[in-house]
Amino acid sequence: MATTLITNIGELFTSDPEGASTVEDAALVIEGSTIAWVGSAAGAPAADEMVDAGGRAVIPGFVDSHSHLVFAGDRAQEFAARMTGTPYAAGGIRTTVAATRAATDEQLTSHVARLVAEMRRQGTTTIEIKSGYGLTVHDEARSLAVARQFTEETTFLGAHVVPEGDPGEYVDLVTGPMLDAAKEHARWIDVFCERGAFDVDQARAILDAGAAAGLRGRLHANQLTYGGGVRLAAELGLVAVDHCTYLADEDVAALRDSGTIATLLPGVEFSTKQPYPDARRLLDAGVRVALASDCNPGSCFTSSVPLCIALAVREMGMSPAEALHAATYVGAAALDHDDVGVLAPGKRADLVLLDAPSHVHLAYRPGVPLVLGTWVGGRPT
Ligand SMILES: [Zn+2]
Repeated sequence: MATTLITNIGELFTSDPEGASTVEDAALVIEGSTIAWVGSAAGAPAADEMVDAGGRAVIPGFVDSHSHLVFAGDRAQEFAARMTGTPYAAGGIRTTVAATRAATDEQLTSHVARLVAEMRRQGTTTIEIKSGYGLTVHDEARSLAVARQFTEETTFLGAHVVPEGDPGEYVDLVTGPMLDAAKEHARWIDVFCERGAFDVDQARAILDAGAAAGLRGRLHANQLTYGGGVRLAAELGLVAVDHCTYLADEDVAALRDSGTIATLLPGVEFSTKQPYPDARRLLDAGVRVALASDCNPGSCFTSSVPLCIALAVREMGMSPAEALHAATYVGAAALDHDDVGVLAPGKRADLVLLDAPSHVHLAYRPGVPLVLGTWVGGRPT
């Protein structure tokens, strides 16, 4: 199998299970789709091809464990209004639902392709994609079928908001015919557990139905208000619960005790002018923290993980190394993967060459396109 040596790496950020870890003056060998060797450049084995990193940093590709890419329409005017004083509310989702239902499969697919390409250019190599803007049996199933063309990590989010009619009847639809149509295209099931969306009892019923259909649970919780969503995620032993902006001490303790990962989405707080989640409090309590984009047309239309890293460092008390670890290794763990988000022999060769001498530049140089090269499954893209 063909081998590629990437050498003269100024700083290799390996993102180990135990935490951030770096090797200076490093090299890395790719064999086929996996990493075959990692170590000091002076001791590197020969390979078929060689890439000179020129003293730059190499990091794992970002693992974006939370995005909503299947949609149509634009809500730029809503964003502009919010920036001049109109508060964010969950109901704006309905605007996107109407546009998504009206779009053809081809329009949805080409829109997702454009956003996935945008993410790749910014160093993201693993992407989770949710449905949630169809909210009918047909439109949720086709949203997931579109998403599946781009990733295995697809999530059924029929319980994004009640689109119309009686909430109880809608939960019956989500847990019945909609789940039946969605499950073949999805690995995960998710619920927006929030005032104005779905309460804890409804979320529990939906996650239970999903589990019975073979889907693994995740949850949007405690984004806009305090509530029981995070504790529900911990009680059910979910791999991750996302947002975690409004947390009581008992929520933090529940996350620590359950091992459920808190996935923080600071692009949302940036784009809605809400207070940022307190990553430092969570890390100091022993909670595992992931970072993801939550790319969506309403509350956060950025696909940039580097922006999220910069916000986490500037606003949430994370070190640059903690933030990068959260956007790689822990992001992968939030999707129950240990084969990506880490640079070690035997792992998938998903990695990024930065036009910078160290990972710190991801936060030190916010807004600057630092991704010089990306390998996905050992192939340069
Ligand atoms: Zn979301």
